[in-house]
Amino acid sequence: MTAPRFWRNIEQRYRLVGTECRTCETAYFPPRELCPDCRRGGDVVEKEFSGEGEVVSATVVHEAVGDYDSETPYTVAVVELEEGARLTTQVVDDGEDDVEPGDSVEACFRRVSDQGDEGIVQYGTRFRRV
Ligand SMILES: [Zn+2]
Repeated sequence: MTAPRFWRNIEQRYRLVGTECRTCETAYFPPRELCPDCRRGGDVVEKEFSGEGEVVSATVVHEAVGDYDSETPYTVAVVELEEGARLTTQVVDDGEDDVEPGDSVEACFRRVSDQGDEGIVQYGTRFRRV
């Protein structure tokens, strides 16, 4: 499987880079190479997000499979970035209170695995409350 072009940038691991369609001024994260609204008429460019956003909805996951199993329970939330893009993400450091809609969050980067191809450390984007 070939990773999308945007994901091959090393800086991607430390920055929140998505895309923006300049035709309809809609931001997307994760990045999309094609604007789903404008299709071929879209003018899609890379866009760096501030990483700040707000929780739209949140769910606590108690059972998970695979790599996430050791982390349960954890919170999965839909976050709307201040630029307007929405993504589903894990919210970490959620403390004793449940994560709730309206909570302010910011992106953080967590080491996900150091057993990737060729020993490359992989980072994943998570969010934490601020
Ligand atoms: Zn568009």
